[in-house]
Amino acid sequence: MPAEPISPPEASLDVAGKPRPTPAPPEPEHGVEAASSEAARLAFLSRAGELLGASLEWRTVLHRLAELAVPVLADWCAVDVITEDGSVERVAAAHREPEKTALVHELSRLRPVDLVSPGGISEALRTGRPVVMPVVTEEMLPAMVREPAQLDVVRRLGIRAGLVLPLLARGRVLGAVSLVRGDEQVSFDAPELEVAMELARRASLSMDNALLYEEARTAQSFSARLQTVTAALSRAATAEDVARVMVRDGLEASGAARVAIAELSADGCLRVLGSVGYSQAWMEGLDGQRVAGLPVLARAAEQRESQWFSRLEELLPSAGFVESDVAALGEGSRAFLPLLTERGILGFVALAWGEPRMFPPLERAFLDALAHQCSQALERAALYGTLRERGERLHHALQMGKEAEERLFFLLEASRALAEHLDDVEWTLEHVARVAASSVASSCLVELVGPDGTLRCVASAHQEPSRDASVLSVLGGEGALSLSRECFQSGEPRFVPDVDAALCERLAERSEQQRALLEALRPASLLVVPVRTRGRTLGVITLGTSPPQRPLAMSDVSMMEELARRVAVALENASLYRDAQAAVRLRDEFLSVASHELKTPLTSLKLQHGLIDRALGPDSREKVAPRLSTAMRQVQRLATLVDHLLDVSRVSLGRLALEPTEVDLGQAVRDAVERMEEVFAVAGCSVRVDIPEPLQGRWDSLRLDQVLVNLLTNAAKYGAGRPVQVTAAEAGDGVVRLSVRDEGIGISETDLPRLFGRFERAVSDRHYGGLGLGLYISRQIVEAMGGRIEVESREGVGSVFTVHLPRAAG
Ligand code: ADP
Repeated sequence: MPAEPISPPEASLDVAGKPRPTPAPPEPEHGVEAASSEAARLAFLSRAGELLGASLEWRTVLHRLAELAVPVLADWCAVDVITEDGSVERVAAAHREPEKTALVHELSRLRPVDLVSPGGISEALRTGRPVVMPVVTEEMLPAMVREPAQLDVVRRLGIRAGLVLPLLARGRVLGAVSLVRGDEQVSFDAPELEVAMELARRASLSMDNALLYEEARTAQSFSARLQTVTAALSRAATAEDVARVMVRDGLEASGAARVAIAELSADGCLRVLGSVGYSQAWMEGLDGQRVAGLPVLARAAEQRESQWFSRLEELLPSAGFVESDVAALGEGSRAFLPLLTERGILGFVALAWGEPRMFPPLERAFLDALAHQCSQALERAALYGTLRERGERLHHALQMGKEAEERLFFLLEASRALAEHLDDVEWTLEHVARVAASSVASSCLVELVGPDGTLRCVASAHQEPSRDASVLSVLGGEGALSLSRECFQSGEPRFVPDVDAALCERLAERSEQQRALLEALRPASLLVVPVRTRGRTLGVITLGTSPPQRPLAMSDVSMMEELARRVAVALENASLYRDAQAAVRLRDEFLSVASHELKTPLTSLKLQHGLIDRALGPDSREKVAPRLSTAMRQVQRLATLVDHLLDVSRVSLGRLALEPTEVDLGQAVRDAVERMEEVFAVAGCSVRVDIPEPLQGRWDSLRLDQVLVNLLTNAAKYGAGRPVQVTAAEAGDGVVRLSVRDEGIGISETDLPRLFGRFERAVSDRHYGGLGLGLYISRQIVEAMGGRIEVESREGVGSVFTVHLPRAAG
């Protein structure tokens, strides 16, 4: 039907409206005098304003509007609103005859109003302007309805004139109220039009207030829900925690039926963190998918905006999934929220509701805020993760450093002990066990193979000294753990990083002793390494740890293998050392016996020389004397050498005995010089003795003479024919000092420190004969007397040998 748009009330209207014969009051039971009367109109409008303003629920407001309009302004009335999804809903109706109110609803049920049809309610809703139908005739009816079934309903309701007024607020069309008259004299006159429009305006105002109120309450509710989720998210430390919160609290806050949250990995694939309401198969299908292959998510990522789908049909074209699969999840609405950060997209949250619905701006803002909080929580979790990981790495590095240092210290300490105490391997091994049990392990056992081929515990230590004894006590006869025996037999290390009850049982089942040993050690980790050398296993070393000591690691295996190598070397060295000691003792015994045996024929030879000398007549003396004298000197030299050898063997065997008597050092020197007159003469050296006073002391005179003869012989031998001076004097503190000075070849600085050692010489054998034993024996004698001997010398200038002797020594 042609609909005539009208202007606002103050404009002149081409409406021949007459006052309603019986205008009804806002309270129909009382009635009003006349709507045409200005006062009545004002009263009606004021009462209407009050009633409309009394509710903050917009449906109630619109119900009241309908009730107010009928029958005062119309015979029947319908109120339609534009819903969020753009459809039109009839929310209120009234009819002068109440039983016909249902027919007004029936009209809309048969064919809901839309926003595109020409004229009528559609036009008012679309344009926001009133639509007036001054006269409606029977002939016009078919054109007015869009559904044949509506024709009958309209006839029963009655329609002769109509007026559709938009409900407007803040420039927005909220809905429309339709006022319809069914009797003959029907047209709305100007005052009625004005009242109707004012009524619509007040209704709009009240409805807008109610909507604002509802919006405020919704906003409040969203903000409360957001706070709950934010609080829960703030406690999330990992991405999985975040997902758990979203699945539980996020789902509840959003009112959705399903939720899924997925992370976006660097390679553009999804990793599902959590979901509820979706089947496992669906989620597994999603996991690992490329975002680029899912248009909805790709668009959300590209536009950095959430994607909203009020109903399934909107989603299907762009879902990117098999349509039937998506459809199987139901009709409802969906929202795909990108998890945004400044740097990019962390992932997505998908929400789904069971039924189609619109997403009002407030709800969109709320869900976007929810996603924002979720992204922040994920970012925080990633940061925590990085920090935690770094902290752990640092801790690990420190720990590794500490452990490495501990191992190094242990190895150094053990090696030092092994190298220093060649002669006491048992002490060394006990020491090594003690150091091990106080640094890298809680307990340490060293077992060596005995002559009978079985293992014997030679050292044991436990971190708790009280348990040390108990370890040893249970090691009594049979000793080793079966693990140690296995290692011994195979020659391979045995490492058990985590000793569990089953292993303990297996180890202990062999004997009660094993059980007692395990009870004493209580190991959490065990390591047995073989001590091997040249293909032979000499024994095993067992390390055990118990909390709080850290368990043993692979680095400990390498460390212990290294230690075992060093122990093997030490054991071999000790064995060689023992053999060498025995050999030296054998040699010294031989020297002692040999030189002793040599002395008897030498003494006899000397005696024979004396007898020959005395028996020589003057003639034969002249011929023989020089030869005899040479023979006697050679015999004396031989005797001295034999004496030296005998003394060396005595010193080595600790048999250098002294027999102190009262001796005057000055006299002893003079006697020795006198006896050696010929030696000095042959050497071409003059000797001066400078000892002004008697120097009495208790010394072994023969040994003292031996020292003097050695020093004087050297002075003659190395004195280069230059003068030799012997001095002696009191040096204080009961010590006398004797010096033999020559101006001979001297000794180089590098040779000085070793001169007093056995067989040490600083001259070539070709030029000077000798065994290098004179100074060695002299030093042994002087030290046995409680004194000391030292030398000062410069090459080519001469030497001074000085002896300090306590008078009461010997
Ligand atoms: P020997 O004289 O038999 O070699 P000694 O033990 O008496 O053995 O002396 C050791 C070495 O000390 C000698 O070989 C010589 O090199 C050096 N020596 C000892 N006395 C002197 C000295 N007065 N002047 C220079 N060198 C000396």
